[in-house]
Amino acid sequence: MQADKKEQVLFQNQFAEPVTCVPGAKPAMSSPAQPEVPAPLDNLKIQHTKIFINNEWHDSVSHEKFPVINPATEEVICHVEEGDKADVDKAVKAARQAFQIGSPWRTMDASERGRLLNKLADLMERDHLLLATMESMNAGKIFTHAYMLDTEVSIKALKYFAGWADKIHGQTIPSDGDVFTYTRREHIGVCGQIIPWNGPLVSFIWKIGPALSCGNTVIVKPAEQTPLTALHMASLIKEAGFPPGVVNVVPGYGPTAGAAISSHMDIDKVSFTGSTEVGPFFGTKYFFSHVNVSFAVDSAVEFAHQGVFFHQGQICVAASRLFVEESIYDEFVRRSVERAKKYVLGNPLDSGMSQGPQIDKEQHVKILDLIESGKKEGAKLECGGGRWGNKGFFVQPTVFSNVTDEMRIAKEEIFGPVQQIMKFKSIDEVIKRANNTPYGLAAGVFTKDLDRAITVSSALQAGTVWVNCYLALSVQCPFGGFKMSGNGREMGEQGVYEYTELKTVAMKISQKNS
Ligand code: ADP
Ligand code: MG
Repeated sequence: MQADKKEQVLFQNQFAEPVTCVPGAKPAMSSPAQPEVPAPLDNLKIQHTKIFINNEWHDSVSHEKFPVINPATEEVICHVEEGDKADVDKAVKAARQAFQIGSPWRTMDASERGRLLNKLADLMERDHLLLATMESMNAGKIFTHAYMLDTEVSIKALKYFAGWADKIHGQTIPSDGDVFTYTRREHIGVCGQIIPWNGPLVSFIWKIGPALSCGNTVIVKPAEQTPLTALHMASLIKEAGFPPGVVNVVPGYGPTAGAAISSHMDIDKVSFTGSTEVGPFFGTKYFFSHVNVSFAVDSAVEFAHQGVFFHQGQICVAASRLFVEESIYDEFVRRSVERAKKYVLGNPLDSGMSQGPQIDKEQHVKILDLIESGKKEGAKLECGGGRWGNKGFFVQPTVFSNVTDEMRIAKEEIFGPVQQIMKFKSIDEVIKRANNTPYGLAAGVFTKDLDRAITVSSALQAGTVWVNCYLALSVQCPFGGFKMSGNGREMGEQGVYEYTELKTVAMKISQKNS
């Protein structure tokens, strides 16, 4: 159980306070230091399947519904009301109304906003098991991860944003002339928030947390694959006592409900996390990407492994390109293959499972197609290489060696449990190759040489660079990408300020104070 031990060290050191758009790996087994994870709920009832506007549940204007699928069984969990433009219009009206000057939300003390957000976090704690079970069933997440990471991390993140509510302030500025100048950080207004399926609950909190903390109102569109935890959160928002219209949740598809949000004239800010194909239409946030450089030493094998296999590779910071120095290449590949072969695949709600399904058929087909391209283009298939089982969207853990830069598996975002191991000779060469991508969300460097660590981490064009660790994300630190991997930052002070407008007030005074 050597790998298990390593995982524990990893988690204690790096993931003490993890907050990830797709949380970092945590061991599926429990250790004495960690709280027991209860069994998932076996009688989960889906209570909320409607559109949430003005603290009320609505049918869709079109009366259409769409199916929500369990990716491990391909069975329909329930049908959810399908929002479209008309529903988005209703939600925007409600959010605008809630943002009117003089409204309960606008006149509420900032500290009271913080209290409401904390109350919401308390309700999430109460419903921890329900949220984790729902997330595991709907998003195909290993239950232990859904419980200890997704839900836990979301609660902590919400409390962090709650704390900001009464600490968002401007400055006084010694401007030229007889003027007294100060700045205010004001709320922006009505925010449209479009979220992805790979971390449905975490993404929901990352979006609404800072937006509400700053006093905005929101319309959230969960991904069509995973609307369930967002709808449960809507019920908790009402229970916590947020005024009607402050949070509205409109489930539906991207090109319809999503597009209605992104093009709406009465929405003041759109925040989007999703694929780069959709992102460019927004000019706002689009995150998914990958850059990873690993200079192998002992624990690098484990970090590199977790970096790409966690949540079946469906994380925006997946370490899908791995560069290993020539001298240790063969050994590194051997150990990576050994590690990848340890997975137990199956229903993520069952105990003992370490790998669940991909989110849907579309992703499943895309991943299998990329794997085929890798075989055809001459990469060496070390293990895996196909689908697993005949029900559910499972992919065998796959490792390719002898991968070269121009292969599709090295260029395209695979978003699956597939590791690409490349070889390099010199530092200059690997920096160039690592940066030779339109993406730049995150990278990792492994080396014992301090000088190399600094040189490489400075040279890499990525929003986050981890040195001798990977996936060490935290809500207190800004997160976002360079190049095509995004605009703006989420989390940290910067992430909160993204939901404010900065206003300068210059006031004529008769005489400048000395
Ligand atoms: P993925 O390819 O990983 O599914 P997407 O970018 O398609 O990522 O999805 C992320 C989110 O963006 C989802 O909520 C989806 O419904 C939404 N979305 C997809 N296409 C559009 C679009 N044209 N306009 C607005 N939102 C969209
Ligand atoms: Mg999509």
